[in-house]
Amino acid sequence: MEHRHHPVVREIRHDLNEKPFIAIWEVTRACGLVCAHCRAEAQRKAAPGQLSTEEGKDLLRQLAGYSRPYPLVVFTGGDCFEREDLVELVKYGTDLGLSVSISPSVTPLFTKERLVALREAGGKAMSVSMDGATAETHDAFRGIKGTFDKTVEATKIINEVGFRLQINSTLTRGNIREAPAMLAKAIELEAFMWYVFMLVPTGRGANLNMLSPQEREDTLQWLHDVSDRIAIKTTEAPQYRRIAFQRAKAVETGQEVEHGELYYWLTAETARLLGVTPEKTRIPRTPLAVNSGSGFVFIDHVGDVYPSGFLPIHVGSVKEKPLAELYSDSPVMRELRTPSHFGGKCGVCEYNHFCGGSRSTAYALTRDPLAADPSCVYIPEGYIGEMPVGWE
Ligand code: SF4
Repeated sequence: MEHRHHPVVREIRHDLNEKPFIAIWEVTRACGLVCAHCRAEAQRKAAPGQLSTEEGKDLLRQLAGYSRPYPLVVFTGGDCFEREDLVELVKYGTDLGLSVSISPSVTPLFTKERLVALREAGGKAMSVSMDGATAETHDAFRGIKGTFDKTVEATKIINEVGFRLQINSTLTRGNIREAPAMLAKAIELEAFMWYVFMLVPTGRGANLNMLSPQEREDTLQWLHDVSDRIAIKTTEAPQYRRIAFQRAKAVETGQEVEHGELYYWLTAETARLLGVTPEKTRIPRTPLAVNSGSGFVFIDHVGDVYPSGFLPIHVGSVKEKPLAELYSDSPVMRELRTPSHFGGKCGVCEYNHFCGGSRSTAYALTRDPLAADPSCVYIPEGYIGEMPVGWE
């Protein structure tokens, strides 16, 4: 269902050169799980040099030093629960006026008592990962048996305690045929949002299969369709915003949108599992025009700053320079905010202002963060230049 008179893509009102929209802080790299696709190459114990409580508080003060609205703050890991001062940090950030969300792992450290304490400290949303719709596929992905059942249990506690539940799923060639079942599960578990990551081949995920450009396109087109069933957010798939525009235009002009085989399969499977029309329709959430370094900033466990958690280009350290300076003035970050400087078709694409391609995927496959995104099927109008390496 298309909703006209509803903005197709939401642009951030403030100047993204001045202030990030969202800051992801990897509070620790320690984690008891060994997930196949882990960006963080997580380890059992906290690494030397991990930001201390005081250094963490300083970072939160810096984020609250921006003008309002402050950047959204997400604590991630590793496993956030490995930090004993987690409640203290959430409370500190909340008292400063920040909106803090938490993205823990589901291990024995995930307990209702801790969740209640975090909620009381002001935590807003909590996400858990689900990379398969069954125990078999999810546990294989996560590397530990029993994680799926514990994750389902965890979602119930998250809702009960009053957090907004977000389910994160990384889609690959290995689990894409389970995506409709994952969607059904996210709806059944009453998730507030289904957050879909497209695999970027970094960290442990380098060995797994990325979707081909056409499979990715089909998946994003399907996600656009089902966004009237659950709120959807995508990561490392900014083409979702191009698709939102194209679909709105197609509705206006009565044009047919062409799809590949995977799209039709995903659509049929969704209808089989959930019916052709949603039980409860919702107005699709408008995708936000943020991208690596452009509204988005990642601070790792030792305070090193990156344009995103999937783009390993070191921008500097908060132990040495203020975050605001690193975010606004670093040459890499500035380039990432200048789509006309992107290579090949992304540089001339009429959608580059809203999309800009997955910079992390471009970097992972070409070693150039400004190269055209090889994972996008779209050919900009009138483009006659070279196609990115790896494009099929
Ligand atoms: S060509 Fe680049 S900017 Fe255009 S839609 Fe594809 S990834 Fe986005």
